[in-house]
This record gives sequence, structure tokens and C-alpha cells, in this order.
Amino acid sequence: MPDLKLYNSRTRKHEKFIPLTETVRMYVCGPTVYDLAHLGNARPVVVFDIVFRLLKTLYKKVVYARNITDVDDKIIDAAAKKNISITQLTVDTTKQYHEDMQALNTLQPTHEPRATDHIEDMITMIETLIKKEYAYAADGHVLFCSKKYKDYGRLSNRSFDEQLAGARVEVATYKQDASDFVLWKPTSNNQPGWKSPWGYGRPGWHIECSAMSKHFLSDHFDIHGGGIDLIFPHHENEIAQSCCANGSDLMANFWLHNGHLTVDGEKMSKSLGNFLTVRDLLKKYPGEAIRLALLTTHYRQPSDFSDTALSLAKATLDRFYTALKPFDTVEASTCHVVLDALCDDINTPLAISHLHELVKELNKSHDPKIAAELKAGAALLGLLYQDHKTWFQKANITNMTAVEIENYIQLRAQARKNKDFKEGDRIRDALLEQNIVLEDSAAGTTWKHT
Ligand SMILES: [Zn+2]
Repeated sequence: MPDLKLYNSRTRKHEKFIPLTETVRMYVCGPTVYDLAHLGNARPVVVFDIVFRLLKTLYKKVVYARNITDVDDKIIDAAAKKNISITQLTVDTTKQYHEDMQALNTLQPTHEPRATDHIEDMITMIETLIKKEYAYAADGHVLFCSKKYKDYGRLSNRSFDEQLAGARVEVATYKQDASDFVLWKPTSNNQPGWKSPWGYGRPGWHIECSAMSKHFLSDHFDIHGGGIDLIFPHHENEIAQSCCANGSDLMANFWLHNGHLTVDGEKMSKSLGNFLTVRDLLKKYPGEAIRLALLTTHYRQPSDFSDTALSLAKATLDRFYTALKPFDTVEASTCHVVLDALCDDINTPLAISHLHELVKELNKSHDPKIAAELKAGAALLGLLYQDHKTWFQKANITNMTAVEIENYIQLRAQARKNKDFKEGDRIRDALLEQNIVLEDSAAGTTWKHT
């Protein structure tokens, strides 16, 4: 097996990965369940699914924990807005999250704890932090004194002044220092709350991950992952809480962070109208195409999403599945080139280019050995897991590639230009039979799957 090298955000270096124990342990920050998962939420899930698959290939035992945050201000606000109970909102949203992530062919983590099932763990950790004088109770709140932890700011490489500027910290009378952050806060009776030594209240977000990672992976584990936007303050605070409470130097050996996601070059936001939920995208594209599109960019780079990228991913999969058509019964073997690419800091773009080369070779040689290798390489990426027939049927999609469809659109435009509307309609109807809908606008004709 090749060496695994990963870029460690903690040391800012590429390092050889050496597991701490025989069981490799990874924690990834999961969703706050108040709304449908958008593409930005999906990226870390897919990225760390690749890491999980790779670790399982390289090591005998891997434990992967990813939490569900089901208590949070955003949840309380969203439930009030929708006029439903918090439980109904979190249960429904969790179910939708699971369905959407399954459609992207991501594996279920070994543990998926819900924060509300671990309030006791959080209270215990907070009590330890108070006892060790890293935290204090004031006015129903418990706060962590960031300045007491000597390594605070090391992960994000920020001074205290920069931290304050970046965090838009609220000034509150119960805080001894502006940089202190909340471990526990009071809650009114109609909001979710638990009895605690500091009164009826609920945990802050950061302590949830510290308590749950300790519960499932112990004080010091191998890999902690999440989106780059979580480095500060969330991951910085997780490290401070865990290391101070556990009396350990490190929380995780390796910190892995995936880059931002943009849509058509813009930051995704509801106000810009480019907010893409996984659920909406799944109406237009098969989950496997969304997955492939997410993997075409290296996980640490910013990723830009567009309909073109998705159509291309879909066309690529059409081509791959077509090449594999005569080899449905061939079993996957091993694929060293893809394994090597992934072991080099999860280089998925390189891994995908190897798949393209294998398909080219397969189309030329029709050698079942190449098909077996292609299947093995694709399996490491969680791709080409369906048989040929299922892909073309279940994807609700036609045997036509994007290029073919574009050709038909041009033929139709030509016919209409020649006033041959009958021919134009014939092409439109023929495409509809293949589940392709054409939409005409001033800007031209676009297509989508029915
Ligand atoms: Zn977290």
C-alpha cells in the first residue's frame, strides 16, 4: 500500500499520515438541521466520504463520527417561522439530509450522534473546565477564557486582535473579556433547555463537537475535518475546550479543511438567488453527476459550480457507463493509479483523469482487465456503482449525451429559421420522448431533464 500524505492545516504542511492506534479515528463537523442541505453543505460530506473510503482501503479498522447539531438558535428561529415544533423540524430536516446525502452516494458514518443525546457529556466537560479555571459561570452563562489557553489562535494563525475583528464578538456584561466564548447559555421555558448546575439552559455550538468527539473517539484522535470557514472560531474553540478539559496537547493530529464553494463565480446566497439546494439539483441531475462535479476540483481549492459543470459531469458518466456496457458482470480488481492519486492529499482531479484514460483504453482494447481496473478506481471515488441499465433508466435520463442534445437543439433552430415549424416541433417532441424538455427564451434554447 502506498503512503498516505495529507495537508495538515495544524502544521501547514503536507505530512505522512501515521495512525495513532490500530483503529483510525476521524471526526467531521456535521450539519445544523434547520433547512435543506445546500451544495456548500454537501461538499465536505462528499470530500470526507472520499477520505473515509480511502482510509477503509488502507486500514483494517476505521471509525468515523459526524455529528448532527439539533439544538441551535437557527433551529429555534426556523421552527418559529414555519410554526412547527423544534422536534418536527429537526427530525424532518435530518431525514431530508440523509436522503440527499445518500443520493450523492456517501457512506453513512460509523457514528452519527445528535447533540441533544449528549447534553450530559457537555455538562461534564464544562464542569471540568470550570474546575480547572479555564471557564467561569456568570449570569446563567458559562464562558471559556480564551486567553488562558496558551495555544489559542494557533490553528487559525490569528492574534487576539485579529480574532476579535473577525468574529464580530458581542459585547456583553457577563463577559470578563471580549474574546471569551459561550459554553452554556440560559434558555427561556418555551425554548429547548436542560437542567444544569448553572440553571436551565442549553449548550453553545462549539462544546457539542468537543463532547461528542471525546465520547466516540477519545481525547486525542487522528483526523478532524470540516469546511475552511469553520477554522475560526469553531475549530479554534473546539481545540481550546478539548485540550484544556482533557489535559492533552492535541485534539486531533491532522486537521483537514475543504475550500469554499461558489456558484457561477459568486458566493452562494439566498439574496443573490443562486442558492442551490441538493434537493433542487437532484431534480435536474443524477446524484452521481453532482458527486463527480464536486470531485473535479481538489478539495482544498475553491470550487465553482455551474450548469455547464454539471452537464459535463453527466456527459462524462454517460460515456463511462457506455464504455462499461459490455462488462456489467466484470468484478472490480485494483487500480493503483487512482489509489496513488488519492494518497497524494486526496488528489481527485488526477484520479478522475486516470479514469478518463482507462475509458479511452477500454474503448480501444475491449479488455475486461481494463474494465475491472476502471471499476476499482471508480469505486474508490464512489462512482460507477450502478450497472449500465440502471444508470440510464434511474437517472431518468436518456441515452443521449449533452453534445447530442445540443446538436438537436441546433437542428431545430435551423428548421425554425427556415420556417419549417413542423420539423422544429418534431425534434422537440422526439427529445421529450427521451425525457428532455426544451425551454425557449430570448437568450436561446436550454434543456433539462423532465
Ligand atoms: Zn464541530
